[in-house]
Amino acid sequence: MARIAFIGLGNMGLPMAVNLIRAGHQVEGVDVNPASVAKLKEAGAAPVEFAHVAAARADVVITMLPAGKHVRDVYLGANGIIAAANPGTLLIDCSTIDVDTARAVAAEAEAKGLFMVDAPVSGGVGGASAGTLTFMVGGTAQAFQRAEPILQKMGKTIVHAGGAGTGQAAKICNNMILGISMIAVSEAFVMAEKLGLDHQKLFDISSKSSGQCWSLTTYCPVPGPVPTSPANRNYEPGFTVAMMLKDLRLAQEAARAVGANAEMGAKAERLYSAYADSGEETRDFSGIVRFIRG
Ligand code: NAD
Repeated sequence: MARIAFIGLGNMGLPMAVNLIRAGHQVEGVDVNPASVAKLKEAGAAPVEFAHVAAARADVVITMLPAGKHVRDVYLGANGIIAAANPGTLLIDCSTIDVDTARAVAAEAEAKGLFMVDAPVSGGVGGASAGTLTFMVGGTAQAFQRAEPILQKMGKTIVHAGGAGTGQAAKICNNMILGISMIAVSEAFVMAEKLGLDHQKLFDISSKSSGQCWSLTTYCPVPGPVPTSPANRNYEPGFTVAMMLKDLRLAQEAARAVGANAEMGAKAERLYSAYADSGEETRDFSGIVRFIRG
């Protein structure tokens, strides 16, 4: 069993770390918020105050942090993980961040004789608790081979996407599809209302036709057709508008950096941004249907 330092015990990190403890790993938890560290202690982890202290005695370091600036800080800053970790240590960053930061941190890690993968996730807090996350992993084959058995304790689908940064690339491409498709489905339901077509009828037809997609069949933005979708609980998240906006902004940054045409992604970013500004930032992103309805 590995000795694991887990840094960032928020909504996602805490249940992920708990699954590693349940799998028999020896976990030390670090978070700037003492309440989160206390929760992990209850689950059987040793609390540690600083990331570099835990990293110096770990075989594996996992981070689950809010954004790229936190990742740069924790890995490369004064008292950073990269300076503290012993050669051969495996570093796994599960945060959703920009591709450039992921590649920059991985290059520093490699120069120090460490193994690193970017391994952002899909599946939300429910998937983190159930241990059914999907991991999109960027890094060398050797780093992936070492990371896979650890990730299997927290997820169900583990895909090696390619070299450093490709895990983040997969995540933002996927979420751009999701953000755009949710708008398309929402526009269709609102138009159906105005045309006198029943929600359930549109669902029955489109879910078996070429309009079929995850935003329709698993996360339907109107109440009724899919009883488990957030639409049936007043758009309580789920996946918040703020999170969708974060990922669409990362996608636009990446598109600009490489000269990719992502016009629908840009429109989607503007629409979710306007929806967030209407005071709905913490609502589930599928609530965009209400904004479209006006
Ligand atoms: P969160 O804000 O709940 O957790 C982040 C944690 O990091 C917090 O507990 C915070 O105190 C801690 N932290 C911040 N700076 C730190 C530092 N310097 N040292 C130690 N700890 C520090 O966020 P979350 O919902 O757990 O999301 C984490 C990441 O996962 C984000 O990048 C997010 O985009 C991504 N993600 C989230 C979801 C979701 O449904 N919540 C789904 C997929 C991906």
